[in-house]
Amino acid sequence: PERVRFAPSPTGFFHVGSARTILYNWLLARQSNGAMLLRIDDTDTERNREEWVDGIYRAIRWLGLDWDEGPVRQSTRIDHYQAIAFDLFERGLAYWCDCTRETLDARKPPGTPPGYDGFCRDRKLSQGPGRALRFRVREGEIVVNDLIRSQVIFPAGAVEDFVILKSSLAPLYVLANVIDDIDFSITTVLRAEEHLPTTPKAVLLHEALGGPLPRFGHLPVLVNEQRRKLSKRRDRVAVEDYRQLGYLPEPMINYLALLGWNPGDDREFFTLDELIHAFSLERVGHSPAYFDEQRLLHFNKTYIASLSAQEFARIARPFVDPMMTGSTDGDERLAQILPEVQTRIGTLSELPAMIGFLFHFSPDYDELADRLRAGDDHYLKAVADVLAVTDPFDSPTIETSLRTAAEELGTSLRKLQAPVRIAITGAPIGPPLFHSMAILGRDECLRRIQALLE
Ligand code: GLU
Repeated sequence: PERVRFAPSPTGFFHVGSARTILYNWLLARQSNGAMLLRIDDTDTERNREEWVDGIYRAIRWLGLDWDEGPVRQSTRIDHYQAIAFDLFERGLAYWCDCTRETLDARKPPGTPPGYDGFCRDRKLSQGPGRALRFRVREGEIVVNDLIRSQVIFPAGAVEDFVILKSSLAPLYVLANVIDDIDFSITTVLRAEEHLPTTPKAVLLHEALGGPLPRFGHLPVLVNEQRRKLSKRRDRVAVEDYRQLGYLPEPMINYLALLGWNPGDDREFFTLDELIHAFSLERVGHSPAYFDEQRLLHFNKTYIASLSAQEFARIARPFVDPMMTGSTDGDERLAQILPEVQTRIGTLSELPAMIGFLFHFSPDYDELADRLRAGDDHYLKAVADVLAVTDPFDSPTIETSLRTAAEELGTSLRKLQAPVRIAITGAPIGPPLFHSMAILGRDECLRRIQALLE
């Protein structure tokens, strides 16, 4: 059984990259009958906010995932990290250093590579104000056996003596993470590629602190259409944004699973349960994964279309409720229109614009009139006349009436229908027109056509 952890830092909205990271960890735990720990990496008090912590829990639940242990808050374990750092000092594996960026720069000839030069290694300083604790990096290369990138070798000298406690005694995250991974017996560390450069430091700390080294796997970076790393300034990255837009957790999970992993055949659609069986780290690649919103939309649309009518009505509810307040017959109209639009929408947030005309209608009539073409007035009058006698007032009969009217007017149904749609729905495109008219009823249809003609 694997023991994995998902360890977000609460520094902002929950990112789609984090969603993929927790998913892969969760799948690994589930398929091995193992456990996943949720750890909140909240030692950076300057950048952390409690609301982001709540956002993490909310996003995980929304995705339909969970955790087996935790949440463990690193902020409650600072004393423990400090005690272990002091112990490393006692054992000669760390030393105090009072160098500042300025003294370091002044010392180094121009053109020398960046990084700490080891100046304080043998000065035997004791702890004191302005002194940080540095780890004494051993000789020799450092090998990281990555599950996804295979062997990554960091040559001797590539890793500087790095700080593990700041002069404020705040622990650095690489120290805190290694201590926690040991304390919670983590077997596999699966995380974003951006952490690969700190992995040799983690390996050294594991060596110093003893215990078995976990396996490491670094997930490929997510990029946008321009092949640039997804960024919260440029791209839509917050899971919360997708939720509000009316994306659903199931297609989101399905799509995220395929961002780096592939099933080895051409299957595209997976439930979470199917993923538990199908997923394997061996099939996770290391090339950047393109986060394609259009493909996500396709998954969402397909998923919505596959739902039962009841299920669709249930999940549509929060998106349509606001527009229905104060409308009479709202529920009945909603029940009639939803089956007509279920296969037409990509996201639930499209619903209000698409079907709102059934509940409230107060268009700008000048604007609507501008959309009419020459002769449309004439068509609208003719349609009003036939609708007055269309019986029963249902979708097939309305269609027949209009078709006959079109023939008599010497035009096509399509041309006749266009101004009617504008009069009835206020828009040139929308759900099936005759159904919509039947739902609204004769009086309301005539009233809307009349209003546009005036
Ligand atoms: N807290 C880190 C982050 O949010 C993850 C560190 C890790 O997984 O080791 O990116």
